[in-house]
Amino acid sequence: MEWERIRKRPEDCVGANLQDYQEYAGRFAWSQARALLDGLPNGGINIAFEAVDRHVLAGRGDKLALRWIGRDDQVRDFSYQALRAQTNRFANTLAARGVAKGDRVFSLLGRVPELYIAALGTLKNASVFSPLFSAFGPDPIKARMAIGNAKALVTSEAFYRRKIEPWRKELASLEHVFLTECSGSLPADTIDLSAALAQASDSFETIWTGPEDMALLHFTSGTTGRPKGVVHVHEAVVAHHITGRLALDLRSDDIFWCTADPGWVTGTSYGIISPLTNGATMIVDQAEFDAERWYRILQQQNVTVWYTAPTAIRMLMKVGTEIIRRFDLSRLRLMASVGEPLNPEAVAWSAAAFGKPFHDNWWQTETGGIMISNYRSMDVKPGSMGRPLPGVTAGIVERVEGGGLREITKPMAMGELALRPGWPSMMRGYLNEEERYRKCFVGGWYLTGDLAMRDDEGYYWFVGRADDVIKSAGHLIGPFEVESALMEHPAVAEAGVIGIPDPTAGEMVKAYVALKNGFESSEALRKELLGHARQRLGPAVAPKDIAFRQNLPKTRSGKIMRRLLKARELGLPEGDISTLESEER
Ligand code: ATP
Ligand code: MG
Repeated sequence: MEWERIRKRPEDCVGANLQDYQEYAGRFAWSQARALLDGLPNGGINIAFEAVDRHVLAGRGDKLALRWIGRDDQVRDFSYQALRAQTNRFANTLAARGVAKGDRVFSLLGRVPELYIAALGTLKNASVFSPLFSAFGPDPIKARMAIGNAKALVTSEAFYRRKIEPWRKELASLEHVFLTECSGSLPADTIDLSAALAQASDSFETIWTGPEDMALLHFTSGTTGRPKGVVHVHEAVVAHHITGRLALDLRSDDIFWCTADPGWVTGTSYGIISPLTNGATMIVDQAEFDAERWYRILQQQNVTVWYTAPTAIRMLMKVGTEIIRRFDLSRLRLMASVGEPLNPEAVAWSAAAFGKPFHDNWWQTETGGIMISNYRSMDVKPGSMGRPLPGVTAGIVERVEGGGLREITKPMAMGELALRPGWPSMMRGYLNEEERYRKCFVGGWYLTGDLAMRDDEGYYWFVGRADDVIKSAGHLIGPFEVESALMEHPAVAEAGVIGIPDPTAGEMVKAYVALKNGFESSEALRKELLGHARQRLGPAVAPKDIAFRQNLPKTRSGKIMRRLLKARELGLPEGDISTLESEER
């Protein structure tokens, strides 16, 4: 089925987004982009200075930087000035204990204000910040902190007792543990963070870093296998800033809500850094997904730009559109999505339900920032990730004999999505995995591990991860296409598609499907879905088998773990499941 392009009306194109795009497209150079940020005294650079201090120095200190909403609806506000003071205190707290430039500071916290203070305070001190998902168990935490050579950790007393204390002595590098929510009797060798902050001075001289100094250590989602520790440097802030402006249309008068947890890269690049460098107000919600709560926050906080993920959008779809009418969401100007392919069905649904579509964009932990995007001012083609940002050169490539690469220029031909390296937020390495890092680069391209196509207007279309592609009877089948076709059926909330060995076809397509509220699984529905898919995709591509599930296994960043569906189907070892959040049911 051809999806109708969502044409932008003139009012969608008003404002600087279109101008920015037209101005930068074609002649944008990252080397000049640094000038887009305010002055960098001494030629040095520091992400936290760009995010916080420069606004205060420019007289914008009273502006609301962060509004935190607790699980119980308690609100805590931080102006840029207040955030500056708190992050200075945290930087002083580290410095006083000998935690210095380049030392690794980990966090294991829910979305509480201390997490944001620790992130920015660590960067101010030129130490390296590495956020972990608070839901990780002791083993994945220990493994990541060992890889990162953690020197300090910020966590809650409860997490510490359960998840760290049992093995703490085994990690010799870990010298300082700061605890939040202390009960009164502190565990041995720990520091009460709020007492330490209260004692520390609220002025701090930001430590300048060179553009190549390490700033962030981010672990990938572990969707395809063992997570990698991705190294980002301070210069990345240039990309965080400009991509937020171009792809998310962030302005200083925006109220921005990124629903991602800082435990994965979206929650840091766009859940902390980019909204602040752009001088916006950011909303942080401590609670987990709840459709009604989310709509209420959008309304009450007058959110103008909303950045979320397909898994959340599919959950909203499950709940339906009726509920949306109870809320006034007229302030919403841009809604964007990242993390997984956004099914065309979801784009069309959002356009009907909200009067504006979700704008898909593509990037990865390795790229540090958005690379391909549907701009606010650009027509949206449902199912497409959009076009490369100004300054980003993307291509579709295939391997040739002898080890090189060839660029595929034919429209809508499938190949690996590749990028020409050189933007500031490009990873500088996989920590301690030199060989794995080196293999990402061939013939001057960075290979993303994703398969995609480009159409004649330069829009990119995601096909699937290279590892997930199914080879059946001579066809290469991307799971996304099959999943999207299934999603068009009114009963389907979620679909995950894998290839399983087949003696004649090589592989055959199998789908796992979760149904929307109000639908029951049955043999009749299974047959109907098989028929629907066959009609939509043709017999060569359609699934041969469908299994019903209440829920599909997903990573903490909300990605369907197809490799796990496959391992289970074939009775193979499950591999690294440290990032598994929601189980298959
Ligand atoms: P790992 O590398 O450990 O397997 P991961 O690749 O899921 O995990 P992330 O860096 O969090 O870790 O995710 C980036 C990947 O997510 C991309 O390479 C792509 O496969 C997928 N992705 C992100 N955005 C989109 C999008 N808009 N459309 C399709 N896929 C997307
Ligand atoms: Mg990856």
